[in-house]
Amino acid sequence: MRGLFRFIALLVFIAVIRYVIVTVARFFSQAMSSDAPPDSPAGATAARGELKKDPVCGTFVSTGSSVKQMVNGELMHFCSTTCRDKFHAA
Ligand SMILES: [Zn+2]
Repeated sequence: MRGLFRFIALLVFIAVIRYVIVTVARFFSQAMSSDAPPDSPAGATAARGELKKDPVCGTFVSTGSSVKQMVNGELMHFCSTTCRDKFHAA
């Protein structure tokens, strides 16, 4: 009977281990699926696009958020209207 008891204890042990693994796996899969990315921050969308160098201050600005100005047929990108005005003043 000792052997049978050990066998049952082993089965219970395996069942408990499997239960723990399944529970943990389910928890993690739920956490992954329900963890939908929050509304992407404004910076992420604004940062989209090519980076262009502001000719006035040298800052790199994304074409999505830059201040654009056509200069001699070329589209210039500025980090701010201040830089754009400085460019024209120069
Ligand atoms: Zn600038």
